[in-house]
Amino acid sequence: MTLGITLESLSLGYARGPVLNGIDLTIRPGEVLVIVGASGSGKSTLLRALAGLLPAHGGRALAGDEEITGASRERAMVFQDDGLLPWRTVRRNVELPLRLRGLPRGERKAVAREWLARVGLEGHEDRLPRELSGGMRQRVQLARALAGAPRAVLMDEPFGALDAQTRAGMQALLLDVLRDTRATVVFVTHDVDEALLLADRVVVLGHGGIRTIVDVPGPRDPAADRTALRAQILEEL
Ligand code: ADP
Ligand code: MG
Repeated sequence: MTLGITLESLSLGYARGPVLNGIDLTIRPGEVLVIVGASGSGKSTLLRALAGLLPAHGGRALAGDEEITGASRERAMVFQDDGLLPWRTVRRNVELPLRLRGLPRGERKAVAREWLARVGLEGHEDRLPRELSGGMRQRVQLARALAGAPRAVLMDEPFGALDAQTRAGMQALLLDVLRDTRATVVFVTHDVDEALLLADRVVVLGHGGIRTIVDVPGPRDPAADRTALRAQILEEL
């Protein structure tokens, strides 16, 4: 059920000009691949292309054996600013992808409730997004992304706007829920410590391409000594 993603000489950009040139990368099924890079290096651009929201200027991106040509519920997206619908309750936001998958109403409700409980939001199902803290809204986004049972989750600085303590809690929650899903994760951050905590591999973007790829040996442990890896990544940034 897990999804590998392959980039073949993938070039991306906008009318104004190229951003990424001829990237080759194999994202392994079930891995957590973290992308870091300076602001403007093309992290969001790459993620948008993987989501199918931005056509390639050259080359291609494949999800499994299929070229990515548009959005798919197989690839769920989580943004930094919440992409929640402000007029829908928490529960009805989480039900949305389930509805798109054609689940009957009762089942949608049950799955949404289950995921909201897993992210610690039981009792908040009937609130509107604006009635929640930033951290809680990101929990809703995570629940919504995973409730649809995607084969890949694409996350663009999802915890970037949270304070340090809430962020640490969300990182732990993410690791916890990922343990039970087999989804492939592509996670963008500009925080090297976050990258080293979450990643199986870290890709450093810069100068229009991949500067380096760093393997992060397990187990995932906030107390693990990552000094050498951190130095290696910072040097490329
Ligand atoms: P990052 O997420 O790493 O900060 P982005 O992918 O957002 O970088 O941006 C990469 C480059 O593409 C930047 O130079 C940015 O100005 C440009 N860019 C991003 N989005 C657009 C857009 N919608 N239209 C034109 N240029 C864009
Ligand atoms: Mg960005």
